[in-house]
Amino acid sequence: MVNFITISAPSGSGKTTLCKALQVVEPDIQWSISYTTREKRDTEEDGVDYHFISSDKFEDFIINGYFVEWENVHGYYYGTSLKSLNNAIHENKMLLLEMDVKGSMNIKKLYPEKTFSIFIIPPSIEHLRDRLKNRGTDSAKRIEVRLKRFQEEMEFQNKFDYVMVNENLESAKIELKNKVRKLKQGETNGA
Ligand code: 5GP
Repeated sequence: MVNFITISAPSGSGKTTLCKALQVVEPDIQWSISYTTREKRDTEEDGVDYHFISSDKFEDFIINGYFVEWENVHGYYYGTSLKSLNNAIHENKMLLLEMDVKGSMNIKKLYPEKTFSIFIIPPSIEHLRDRLKNRGTDSAKRIEVRLKRFQEEMEFQNKFDYVMVNENLESAKIELKNKVRKLKQGETNGA
């Protein structure tokens, strides 16, 4: 059984919107709440979107083996607790993990039979730049950092079980929902 659906995408590619829409139509799928040292955005809630913690605490967690995986993304730490994955396996639950490409690859490597990895790409880099600008949460400098990472992340796409293009938000919502429903029904072999 697939317990873990990892979703990776360059930030600004509509991933969070798509994941939130999926949660509404598939409420029994649990959302893995990552830990991060990034500052909270106005639209976010601690304990809902992320567990926002200090770098010192994060480093303590690393030392104590609390994370199944962690990465430094755009200069901040992001990590997933091992316990939440173990719980999902024991309770036979499906967990949705939104993470960077390396995080997805790590989870896939650790739990090959239990993981299905999805990569969402925006139609083009120009499109992505526009979205990041319109979102208005990042400075011009941070947008450039994210775009550079975008180029790097695109190289990982063929390592994923399923790649989808977010050309049109409504169609992408349907595509993601259908894919997840098929996984719930037992499909495990990619596109
Ligand atoms: P943002 O700051 O835009 O919320 O997230 C930045 C990046 O960190 C995104 O690619 C997001 O998917 C990734 N991320 C969030 N949580 C985790 C996690 O627990 N592990 C890893 N490896 N990446 C994460």
